[in-house]
Amino acid sequence: MSTQTYTFPRGIHPPEGKSFAENNAIEILPTPKKLFLAVQQHIGAPCAPVVKLKDEVGPDAVVASADAFVSAPIHAPYAGTVGRPAKKTLPNGRRVATVALDVDLDHAPSGADMLNIVYGGDWEIPADFDVNSIFPAVKSGGLVGMGGAAFPTHVKIAKNEKKPIDTILINGCECEPYLTADYRLMVEYPQPIVVGAILTAAAVGAKTVYICIEDNKPAAIQVVSKAIEKTSNPFGVDVSVRVMKTKYPQGGEKQLIRAALGRKVPFPGLPMDVGALVENVSTAAAVAGRVLRGKALTHRIVSVTGGGVVNPKNLFVPIGTPISELIEFCGGLKSDANRILMGGPMMGFAVGTMDIPVTKGTSGITILTNSEVKKSVETNCVRCGRCVGVCPMNLIPTKLALASRFQNTDVLQAYHVAACIECGSCAFTCPASLPLVQLIRTGKIQVQKLSKK
Ligand code: SF4
Ligand code: SF4
Repeated sequence: MSTQTYTFPRGIHPPEGKSFAENNAIEILPTPKKLFLAVQQHIGAPCAPVVKLKDEVGPDAVVASADAFVSAPIHAPYAGTVGRPAKKTLPNGRRVATVALDVDLDHAPSGADMLNIVYGGDWEIPADFDVNSIFPAVKSGGLVGMGGAAFPTHVKIAKNEKKPIDTILINGCECEPYLTADYRLMVEYPQPIVVGAILTAAAVGAKTVYICIEDNKPAAIQVVSKAIEKTSNPFGVDVSVRVMKTKYPQGGEKQLIRAALGRKVPFPGLPMDVGALVENVSTAAAVAGRVLRGKALTHRIVSVTGGGVVNPKNLFVPIGTPISELIEFCGGLKSDANRILMGGPMMGFAVGTMDIPVTKGTSGITILTNSEVKKSVETNCVRCGRCVGVCPMNLIPTKLALASRFQNTDVLQAYHVAACIECGSCAFTCPASLPLVQLIRTGKIQVQKLSKK
């Protein structure tokens, strides 16, 4: 392993907040009686339910799907009976339909057995493995990016002769403060990550894989490096750990490519334009589970963390579980809990209800106390330029925020509002406490509406 550490220009160092849960081993949530499977858990065309009230479904049965290429089917985590459809709020605040599932608890495997199927045991890629089986397995398994973006994985690994991919970056940075689900997966189950990375490389014909881990996670660096040594690698892919200097937002796709490979993804453009593909560590493990064990994406690890929850934990849960059950299993809210965030404090969404189901992209729930919530009063922009100095996308956040306030779509487009990755670095550094990200998000919607017209 090289001793060099890699990073990208600009960026910030928010308080890490990892100590709440980073040393807490993954625990299994008791299997819930009822699950709510949102029909849209990915970027792309929404699915439509393919089951109806009182249908009996088996484990891993498809309950919602769509014909569009950029979409991902939804599977039942357990056998059960379809209940009344219910609309639920998603982590991003949207109301969507769900397929309700009454779980057949009498015949459900134990949580420990399920964890073992998804991540445990030995992982071997057979020497005569058929590479062409990877894409259809990933597509039918409903895999999406599990770091939060939820982009369908099969779209990323679809072969494109015009834009060949030479390098896979497996994103183990988990740069979002507080969240520790990826960290625990790396420390406790590194082998499916390595195997999934090799399979992903084989699917697209890439010869190099870097598993990118920030230098504030030395245990993960060590354990993953050892797993690489003992993993069978029949395709001759060159796999190694790349140690990244801890900085936010290193886990952003474009920032990671710049940091690890020194390549700049053009705007507008995609990682494949510079021969790279980025995949989260949890997604890589899901690729291994689907391709070698036939397991659809029905479970994941979720951090429940922050000073506002009694016992912060990293939980193995079925997708569709209401977050109220996760919080209850962690001892509930403390008396000074102030805010519930779906995600971490930089990119997460504050929510006003616990009636929200876990989706494929739910990596964590952060509960902040009164003292952890930044108290600030918005004032006028003092033109200090700090927001410009930290923006990892080289944007001018102050200008975009002002244009959004005045609904000036010409300026929003001219200054590339669509390039904003909503990382929150600008708002974090703003001494005037301006809600820059919210304004820029609104500006994006204004431009989208205009292009639809
Ligand atoms: S403008 Fe967007 S990309 Fe730039 S710092 Fe702000 S949120 Fe991040
Ligand atoms: S950081 Fe805040 S106060 Fe400073 S220029 Fe940007 S918007 Fe204005």
